[in-house]
Amino acid sequence: MRKKVKIGSVTIGGGYPVAIQSMCNIPFSRYGELEEQALALQEAGCEILRVSVPDQESASGLKKLKNALRIPLVADIHFDYRLALASIDSGADKIRINPGNIGGREQVYEVAHAAQRAGIPIRVGVNGGSLEKSLLERYRTPNARAIAESAFMNTVMLEDAGFSNIVVSMKSSEVKTMVESYRLFVRNKDFSYPLHVGVTEAGTPSLGLLKSAVGIGSLLLDGIGDTIRVSLTADPVAEIRAAKDLLKAIGLRREGIEVVSCPTCGRTTADTLSLAEYIETNFQQVKTPMRIAVMGCVVNGPGEARGCDFGVTGAKGEYMIFKEGKITKKVPESEIRAVIGEEIALLEKRKFL
Ligand code: SF4
Repeated sequence: MRKKVKIGSVTIGGGYPVAIQSMCNIPFSRYGELEEQALALQEAGCEILRVSVPDQESASGLKKLKNALRIPLVADIHFDYRLALASIDSGADKIRINPGNIGGREQVYEVAHAAQRAGIPIRVGVNGGSLEKSLLERYRTPNARAIAESAFMNTVMLEDAGFSNIVVSMKSSEVKTMVESYRLFVRNKDFSYPLHVGVTEAGTPSLGLLKSAVGIGSLLLDGIGDTIRVSLTADPVAEIRAAKDLLKAIGLRREGIEVVSCPTCGRTTADTLSLAEYIETNFQQVKTPMRIAVMGCVVNGPGEARGCDFGVTGAKGEYMIFKEGKITKKVPESEIRAVIGEEIALLEKRKFL
């Protein structure tokens, strides 16, 4: 089991649930919009939120943003260790640095000592795109060995400063490289720090989601990963939905509705696609775990989706609600959406009691 690390009110590692995180993409110079986005992410279920701190204005702005949020706020720092110090002063709950580009050993020590005094963790955020020159010369390419070695070196640098409140990440835009880096890292039993897992620059929602599902998913299935970020070139709220779905697909979260829908085939007699989409988009506020089947035909649908809390299928202009493989109700097409809402409300009540 990985070591426990506390980021504000959220604990990762030590057997705690895998935490979902995301990052704002609006600068502090547009503070109003930034705060609005941060609140939207919090509302969507983001559990740890990161913001870029490229200048002193951003470092000072952290204080105001932190006061507006319930969730922990992480400052992302590159190149200038003074911004890390200023972010710690502003109350950041964690800082993310790439010790390889923060200015040198003395500067890393200074940041580590300040974080120690504030009682906050540091994420060693190694990225295949910004590896140390010495490693690139040795390995010629930012491969998994080079990335894992950078993570080891930089973790040791923090330990040398007497600091051990560490989270580690090793990102690459290549899924295979990223997965191999983490697998190499966890082989070394001397380092049991919790791991932040993600595929960097994963891309637009379609390919990015697939890359993240394969990369993050492979690691989580092996029990590797304590907090995840699904990076997408999109509104970051989409990252939260994707991360939740990923954890649900792996069976690490049970919150909310899971729609089980058939792929449809020549037997299809119901509008499976629009009903499945309707349920997924209109009941996102439901927290009670439940599985709802939307099946394309009455012949096989109820039997195939026997394990769900309830299911819906259609034939000849009407819909049928089924439970445990048996039809329990016939509903005219005009009423099916209202009836689905009633069934969901009933389940929420029953599972709550
Ligand atoms: S439930 Fe019916 S429509 Fe859907 S895939 Fe199975 S047989 Fe085809």
